[in-house]
Amino acid sequence: MTAITNHMPTAELQALDHAHHMHPFSMQSGFEKKGARVITRAQGVWLTDSEGEQILDAMAGLWCVNIGYGRNELADVAARQMRELPYYNTFFQTTHVPAIALASKLAELAPDTLNTVFFASGGSEANDTNIRVVRQYWSILGKPEKKIIISRKNAYHGSSMGSASLGGMAGMHAQGGMPIPDIHHIGQPNWWAEGGNMSPHDFGLARARELETAIAELGEANVAAFIAEPIQGAGGVIVPPDSYWPEVKRICDAHDILLIADEVICGFGRTGNWFGSQTIDIQPDIMTIAKGLSSGYQPIGGSMLSDKIASVVGTDEFNHGYTYSGHPVASVVALENLRILEEEGIVDQVRDQTGPYLKSKWEALTDHPLVGEAKISGMMGSLALTPHKESRAAFASDPGTVGFVGRNHCFANNLIMRHVGDRMIISPPLVISKEEIDTLIERVWKSLDQTHESLKDQGLMKAAS
Ligand SMILES: *Cc1c(COP(=O)(O)O)cnc(C)c1O
Repeated sequence: MTAITNHMPTAELQALDHAHHMHPFSMQSGFEKKGARVITRAQGVWLTDSEGEQILDAMAGLWCVNIGYGRNELADVAARQMRELPYYNTFFQTTHVPAIALASKLAELAPDTLNTVFFASGGSEANDTNIRVVRQYWSILGKPEKKIIISRKNAYHGSSMGSASLGGMAGMHAQGGMPIPDIHHIGQPNWWAEGGNMSPHDFGLARARELETAIAELGEANVAAFIAEPIQGAGGVIVPPDSYWPEVKRICDAHDILLIADEVICGFGRTGNWFGSQTIDIQPDIMTIAKGLSSGYQPIGGSMLSDKIASVVGTDEFNHGYTYSGHPVASVVALENLRILEEEGIVDQVRDQTGPYLKSKWEALTDHPLVGEAKISGMMGSLALTPHKESRAAFASDPGTVGFVGRNHCFANNLIMRHVGDRMIISPPLVISKEEIDTLIERVWKSLDQTHESLKDQGLMKAAS
């Protein structure tokens, strides 16, 4: 077999990819007509594909490349670690310096008493750990029946059986017998789509109070925890009304349940603070971390436990672990990523400079005829597309039809922006400069104009009745 390299013609790479590689969240047969885009290299916020196109990556890969592409420091520490100790496990009372150093650094950065980390290879594994941690916690305290975890519809917590069950994606639950038992879902705080005639303030309160209702119905004695992303990411960058989180916090404090903040996207600067919990002012008992922890340069995640949780769960043998928990190469890469985020002041830059700059331009997109709502927190933003702003109407076409048209125009304009249903979303690398933000916004306007024309041509500018 000939070597497969960047120099192979794109069509040949695409044919091999299609023959042998099954992609996540894709329909395999869909690639036949048009092959997958082949990404060959990247620098800063820019991707290069096999045709030599320069593409602005406004999704930071999958929400993860917080420090941008091409930081050789991470490659250097990885190579050094691979030569010195490429692998050792952290089972059976064994440890190594990279895991010790990363755990200590995370304890320093994380808020409050979140001082202990259980490592995983990503967010899904970490959320599976969380299911076991909260149930084990209550069991050790003599309350084994306290095991239901309340989550939210349209939440994303990962794709393993446990984490996808925590998640509220109906399309995922429909395949493979999910959710697993003892997971309960309440409504999400998506005012644009679900707020009806309520004000955002009242709707935020109402959705928070669904938690209190659920606790009452299920019985406080049976509920272990509530899990939520501070700001829902994959569900469409749903920034909740300001009234939502203070009310959730009140409810969690009033009832004896644990709060898990899934910080996989919000953590490590995305919302302009180190953690989304700080942006929304909550004190979680457990935080899920992954993605931006290593800026995606290595697969690593974890569960950060407060002293309250760690001190209880630590009193019994925890029959749980992953071969790659605390992997030394992933750990040194994460540590180097955290050093760069901290020493280069990247989180402060998002909060004080580039974040506010992007926010003003992003919110001005509501001047576009297709954009009903423009939401943003730090470096994660969304646009609700609508055929009729005043009534906040959805399109008559199947949800996602219009978003897909929009996304294709973005791709054609060398801009990676995703759609979730008919919402368009961005989550660029945190290091994006003001000039690059200008380019991003120009391409969004152009893509929206073209989308508007396409919708008119295809007779899709119709509101659902
Ligand atoms: C991506 C994501 C996960 C899952 O992480 P993986 O590393 O893909 O397993 C969990 N929670 C949230 C909020 C995510 O965005």
